[in-house]
Amino acid sequence: MKTLGHPKFLKKVNNSAILNLLRDTGPLSRTEIVARTKLGWGTITKYTEELVKQGMLTENKKILKTKGRNSIMLDLNPDIKYFIGIDWGSRSTSITLVDIKRKCVRKKCAETNSGLSDPISGLTELIRGIIDEKCKDKIAGIGIGVSGFIDFSTGEIIKAINFPALRQVPLCELLHKKFKVPVFISNSVNARLLGEIKFGMGVGVRSMIYLWLGTGVGSAVVSNGKVLMPQAQECLGDIGHILINKNGPLCKCGLRGCLEAYTGYEKIMAELNARKHDKDEILRTAAEYISRGLFYMIQLYAPEKIVIAGKYMEFGEAFLAMVKKAIADKLPRERFDTRNICFSGTGPYGGAMGAVELVWLNLYGEGGAHVSELVQA
Ligand SMILES: [Zn+2]
Repeated sequence: MKTLGHPKFLKKVNNSAILNLLRDTGPLSRTEIVARTKLGWGTITKYTEELVKQGMLTENKKILKTKGRNSIMLDLNPDIKYFIGIDWGSRSTSITLVDIKRKCVRKKCAETNSGLSDPISGLTELIRGIIDEKCKDKIAGIGIGVSGFIDFSTGEIIKAINFPALRQVPLCELLHKKFKVPVFISNSVNARLLGEIKFGMGVGVRSMIYLWLGTGVGSAVVSNGKVLMPQAQECLGDIGHILINKNGPLCKCGLRGCLEAYTGYEKIMAELNARKHDKDEILRTAAEYISRGLFYMIQLYAPEKIVIAGKYMEFGEAFLAMVKKAIADKLPRERFDTRNICFSGTGPYGGAMGAVELVWLNLYGEGGAHVSELVQA
């Protein structure tokens, strides 16, 4: 059992504190690390020496302008480890190769053929294609965001609604056998949220709802600075299957009248193409349903901010204004200020970059987010 006093646990906690600090801030002297981590001088000296020996940290002399003397600056060694992040969507897959300092070394976006009997072979090829000679022995892990019901304790996809062939597939284990590195899996919306809080509109936000409006409708939550991550097949913080009307249309999940059944992107596009109603009317109706889902989420999580991402972003500021108005009609400004609703700022690789953060959190996280189990052979 892990206890605060266990030497191995202490080592992991102290190393994580140092590595996370340097990853977020860039080079620091030992004195600065002591001040920022609140760890003792002896502890920092001991652990940084070990990390330098392991090659995780580099030491560089820097002349301090104010004091005119040398100071040794510690930094992460960018060439020591690389991370692969994948956003495995039913229409397209984006993949990134990122160094330990979050610099994207290579990226690629490819169409997904989700109807294949073996969709994993295409995924495997993409992973092979992004690994080159320079980094092939330095991959720390692979992170994947995928939409579906996942057993996070085993890394198994129970059912992926948009990949008919993915039923009871131990994805993490299969990829671990092929690439011999730890593999971590997450709900795709949670992976995209991780990207948003590191690279997008969620930077520095302590409580936030991330709403994905695409083929699927889903959400993920940051509460009091921590990402709420499901642990086993849960739909923790997920808005997509909130009941709008029990007699409503059949949802892909098997229930009736879910928010996704009313507002999935394909459904809205079919309505727009049918032209039975005016475009504004169709979008305003969708915004109304979405606001009902968000109404519950605001009551449950009291977010500072709501970030909207996905295909709906193409409907632009006019749609955003409709969502804001529909919420303002239900809640006074002191309960939620709709000026704090915005579109995502991460771009097409936000999910893949977020999946890299998933690997980092599992290997070097400071216990802020519970994520899927490490699958080891
Ligand atoms: Zn549903």
